[in-house]
Amino acid sequence: MRCNHCKDAPCVDICPTEALFTREDGIVDFDKDRCIGCKSCMQACPYDALYIDPETSTAAKCNYIVRIG
Ligand code: SF4
Repeated sequence: MRCNHCKDAPCVDICPTEALFTREDGIVDFDKDRCIGCKSCMQACPYDALYIDPETSTAAKCNYIVRIG
């Protein structure tokens, strides 16, 4: 499932390490170096957009950044 980059994103609110954060342009971004793999965001996301990367054991999600031009 694709991330909807929610306004007031529940994954950002629940993340204890600020690994998930909202950028100034509204994209909900993710810093895997801060992630401790607690899976809180997976519980919080209503769209199942987050998953655990089996290689890193950290959360991961689609950034859905579309570049035009
Ligand atoms: S990961 Fe889920 S809760 Fe977080 S911004 Fe994307 S859709 Fe919303």
